[in-house]
Amino acid sequence: MEDIAPELYRKINADFTAAVRNDGTIKTLVTKGNSKPLTQKELTTISTRLGKHASDAFKKTLTVEALPDGKMYWNIADRTIRPVMEQIYNTNNLLESNALRLKDKAAGVNIGVVKGADPTARINEIIQFTLDSKTAEELSNALNLPVTTTALDFNDDFMEANAELRDKMGFKQVITREYDGVGLANGRRPCNWCIGRSGTYYSYQEAKDAGAFERHTGCGCTIDWSTNDEVNNDEYNSSVDLPF
Ligand SMILES: [Zn+2]
Repeated sequence: MEDIAPELYRKINADFTAAVRNDGTIKTLVTKGNSKPLTQKELTTISTRLGKHASDAFKKTLTVEALPDGKMYWNIADRTIRPVMEQIYNTNNLLESNALRLKDKAAGVNIGVVKGADPTARINEIIQFTLDSKTAEELSNALNLPVTTTALDFNDDFMEANAELRDKMGFKQVITREYDGVGLANGRRPCNWCIGRSGTYYSYQEAKDAGAFERHTGCGCTIDWSTNDEVNNDEYNSSVDLPF
């Protein structure tokens, strides 16, 4: 049988890359992030948009018509979905790291920055959703919210890893979680799961125990954190080149 994965990936990657390059909001924020630390809300905006562009590219190319027997197979998902999601993970970590280093510099501290948790398990979960899909609609759904939420999860994983590290080093952490105000069923019901996790926490452990870093599929909460209260936004010189 002909190996179709390379051609599917070529199309997806071309669509994804073009969409990111043409995204003026991402461009503006990335440029801003070279001289000032991006806020968590801005970083969340970038992740959401990267996730949406990936989801659109997947849904356009990974259709039942394009797949053998109309089904997704592990070896195809592994070579099409995974590399794009890994690129989002790396981009998130790059932007988050830069924002954090700029904040630290302003606060006059020099603390190490670590990457968020290995993304393999989260990406495998998306792949599993596509493998479990029995219809065109299920496949499209599997490539929709699970993809965009995972892009946000990468952000959260970075925050969590660094908040934990800094907590261990004795730096006081403040974690906040802001409810997105949208809720469930297109806004018809409030999301009590998220409302119960929203608020301000004055240590990493308190936030972790309250589930402040957790997300459900489709969740739009903004999770933020800081090591230092005072940030002086003036004198920076640092830059990030996106791999697109
Ligand atoms: Zn929710």
